[in-house]
Amino acid sequence: MPELPEVETTLRGIEPALTGRTITEVIVRNASLRWPVPDEVGQARGRRVSRCWRRAKYLLIELARAESDTVSAGGGLLIHLGMSGSLRICEADDAPRKHDHVDIVLENGKCIRFNDPRRFGVFSWWEPPAEGHKLLRDLGPEPLSDAFSGMQLWQRSRGRKGAVKNFIMDGKIVVGVGNIYASEALYMAGIHPMRAAGRVSRARYEALAAAIRDVLRRAIAHGGTTLRDFVNSDGNPGYFAQELLVYEREGLPCFQCRAPIRRKVIGQRSSYYCPRCQR
Ligand SMILES: [Zn+2]
Repeated sequence: MPELPEVETTLRGIEPALTGRTITEVIVRNASLRWPVPDEVGQARGRRVSRCWRRAKYLLIELARAESDTVSAGGGLLIHLGMSGSLRICEADDAPRKHDHVDIVLENGKCIRFNDPRRFGVFSWWEPPAEGHKLLRDLGPEPLSDAFSGMQLWQRSRGRKGAVKNFIMDGKIVVGVGNIYASEALYMAGIHPMRAAGRVSRARYEALAAAIRDVLRRAIAHGGTTLRDFVNSDGNPGYFAQELLVYEREGLPCFQCRAPIRRKVIGQRSSYYCPRCQR
């Protein structure tokens, strides 16, 4: 499943191909994604891309209101890769492959093509302000922004009895901390994933926030190095290129103390941790 680093990598891949270009057509071959692709996406036709950005795991392609307008936020396309989605840059006249559901055709003959075998992805439309969109308005801060801090985690966690791992994976608390990165960050911060969120000290939340930033930054750096014309999720440029400290290392020795790494299912997701280093 594409996580935040893969989505950021995708953004960096498509952004140079899109920004400043005019969209000549949006071709929908199959509208039945997670939700039906709305007719509004047709409004992109004839409009120039002013900016591309990411909010959590959503990609936003922002369109200028008019040809002469260079800065406005005139709404635009909203894409989520879901479980198995990917975007790639190709020629508009390249024959579509299986599961190529939507094309964003550009005036220079290039095309951004959305492929999604499992169809849990989203291809939709947003009107300004983007923050008010129903899929975006309840999202917590970006982990790589100044709005995210250990102090904020500590404040939001007071009185919470649920596992700290579930707490940091809650998109209302902080976005983009997927299962792999949650396990890795908790290990780096020495916090047991089952510990009640309300029973983690402020100092340890500071360490955890730093670990979350660190693990995501490193994953993005790795994702970026494998990116070419194909902006991939299935090839897993992000996390498999990265050296993982605990994730999927059940029974293998901890890199710090040599104790065997354990696996436990928390909130239906596999969690990996060192029983000695994490408290
Ligand atoms: Zn250990």
